[in-house]
Amino acid sequence: MRIDIMTLFPEMCKTVLGESIIGRAQKAEKVELNCVDIRDFSGNKHNKVDDMPYGGGMGMVMAAAPIYDCYKSLYNEDEPKPHLIYLSPKGKTLTQQRVVELSKLDRIVLLCGHYEGVDQRVIDEIVDEEISVGDYVVTGGELPALIVADAVCRMLPGVLSDDLCFEDESHFSNVLEYPQYTRPAEWMGKAVPDVLLSGNHAEIAKWRRKQQLIITRERRPDMYEKIELSKQDKKILEKD
Ligand code: SAM
Repeated sequence: MRIDIMTLFPEMCKTVLGESIIGRAQKAEKVELNCVDIRDFSGNKHNKVDDMPYGGGMGMVMAAAPIYDCYKSLYNEDEPKPHLIYLSPKGKTLTQQRVVELSKLDRIVLLCGHYEGVDQRVIDEIVDEEISVGDYVVTGGELPALIVADAVCRMLPGVLSDDLCFEDESHFSNVLEYPQYTRPAEWMGKAVPDVLLSGNHAEIAKWRRKQQLIITRERRPDMYEKIELSKQDKKILEKD
């Protein structure tokens, strides 16, 4: 898969994506990540890419033409148009399900807004989808784009050391994850639950499932309502 990030701050994106698991995935060619500077397409000697909003108001708006030219530079006319996502607080909130769907595409392009946002005409012309990372506003689309890129990359085959390791994670199967512990077995007078030291894999699986259900019920009743509890789940919960 290839992910292009269109941004005014390419170094910020490159630095973050060059580290840790995603950095290693790039080196191992599991994913190609390309950060492109919208300013290179300003078309003026001052590299200006924003202007005052028509109708008045605070702040600046990113102009349509540099974003359009930047996007057009990313693919040839005879190639399929890459799926373009504009990171926006007005978009649909990102979910793990959407992350999995996006990870199946060959190419995505992420457009980072800044200042007051982007001229609506370029959004109407080239954007396929608007994604929000939550009901709050950050200063630019870079951090949201990095969240999308990271979440999508870790779903690609071979990026995580064991592809199965995300299946128990929060949100993957619409439940939150069970608590995790590592050595030592006792820390500050707090012991690791006995069952995790028992070596009994069936009991460990039951304990973990029970914790997932209890935590989801407590913290995310909206998610819990949607779980279709199996007979086994009901039995596990009865033993409370
Ligand atoms: N004036 C815009 C509004 O009220 O909707 C907010 C602009 S924000 C300060 C600048 C840029 O940050 C946006 O164009 C967008 O790319 C990004 N951004 C801010 N909050 C975001 C969020 N929750 N999800 C995704 N992108 C966000």
